[in-house]
Amino acid sequence: MHRCCTLRNSTQTRNDVISNDGATRMTDTFETPFGVVQLTCDTIPSRSPTQAWNQADAYILKKVQEDYGAALADKKVAIVNDQFGALSCALDAFNPEIYSDSAIFKRWLKINRQGIATDVYPIESIRDSTADLFLVKLPKNLHFFQHLLSLISNNPHVVAYVSGMQKYWPRSFFQTAGDCFAEMTVFPGVRKAKCMRLTGVKDTPQIELTRTVHMEAFGFSCVNYPNVFSREQLDIGARFFLENAPDLTQAKRVIDLACGNGVLGLQALLQYPNCRVHFVDESDYAIRSCAASLTINQIDLERATLHQNDGLFDLDLSGCDAILCNPPFHQEHQVSSHVADILIQQSYLALRPGGSLYLLANRHLQHGKQLRRFFNPVRQIASNDKFILYHAMKDKTETQTKPALSRPLIGKSEQSPDDTERSQRRHKPGEPTP
Ligand code: SAM
Repeated sequence: MHRCCTLRNSTQTRNDVISNDGATRMTDTFETPFGVVQLTCDTIPSRSPTQAWNQADAYILKKVQEDYGAALADKKVAIVNDQFGALSCALDAFNPEIYSDSAIFKRWLKINRQGIATDVYPIESIRDSTADLFLVKLPKNLHFFQHLLSLISNNPHVVAYVSGMQKYWPRSFFQTAGDCFAEMTVFPGVRKAKCMRLTGVKDTPQIELTRTVHMEAFGFSCVNYPNVFSREQLDIGARFFLENAPDLTQAKRVIDLACGNGVLGLQALLQYPNCRVHFVDESDYAIRSCAASLTINQIDLERATLHQNDGLFDLDLSGCDAILCNPPFHQEHQVSSHVADILIQQSYLALRPGGSLYLLANRHLQHGKQLRRFFNPVRQIASNDKFILYHAMKDKTETQTKPALSRPLIGKSEQSPDDTERSQRRHKPGEPTP
């Protein structure tokens, strides 16, 4: 059997690389009934150690092995909503179909497959799958879970295993599973993880695929697919941004970074007929929402480019005039400024000298400090008890384009964590790079 994921003997090793801002990249081994896989991921600074797999991954693999044993080789296996590739790598020999909404997942899967790409299909194509055994990692969002199960239960002979950590598994998720499947077996909790098996599909309740939110106060509407941020209504942070929207008269090339349904970039396109907007989000459904929102607001599609991407990694969008960003403030289930910090650094690289980043900050996160590491001047456009809207300008005299990054860049610009660390010690923002 061909495998491209690293299999090792079952000795536990852990290899941590810590960069200057405390971001840590960790490689360790994941022992599964199908072999031992070596996996890498970033951890969240100042949080308890995280790794590329958790007990929910271990549990679901154990259950599937117990229930099927050698018969698994005759099954058509599908994996849905894997996070860093733990399930996909462990079951690599079974050639699973892999479905995900996330560009972050795709990036880590490639890393954990030693750089070898594999097909990852969009969630909607589960509808056409002929797989008879699904392994599903529990998503955060109930509506998205409902959507996944309704797609999976299209095939009446399917068996689905779902696993997640107990504390992130509200009652409503069981109800949803019971709405789609006739039989639900919930296995006892193991090491704070839960797992259930679903069989015998029911007449799946119809769910609304898209929800259109009309924003009378701003004169436009957004279309929201499942899993998109703030699907039911305009987010209060986004509302605050729109109410205090920056003047973009001089901006021709704009990025809506972490765009969700594209609400910030849409307002820019509607107000400033000369600008073009690049919409970037890691979620495929966010990008689909953006595309649909552009259409219902009758925007000339020549003025917009859509990118499903993990931040600005490997996107050549340099020389931009302005970036609009309402960044994520969670990484998985934990509140964190980690992703926003990376987006700030990437924004610095993408802007032309004199270009502007407009960033909405939650008051409880220290984005101002990170902005000042790279930008000058940094000022507050507006604030209330929850948010601060910052205007951070890239120095007009700035000529260098590559500040030292506090996290290794991955992909085309791949360098080892060690290299990044070395370059960080040598170079500060403002210093020329070698
Ligand atoms: N801009 C939208 C708004 O204001 O309503 C959405 C903002 S929401 C707070 C943050 C968005 O960041 C989500 O749509 C999420 O999918 C996206 N996101 C999270 N991590 C990301 C990453 N690494 N790269 C790109 N987008 C990311």
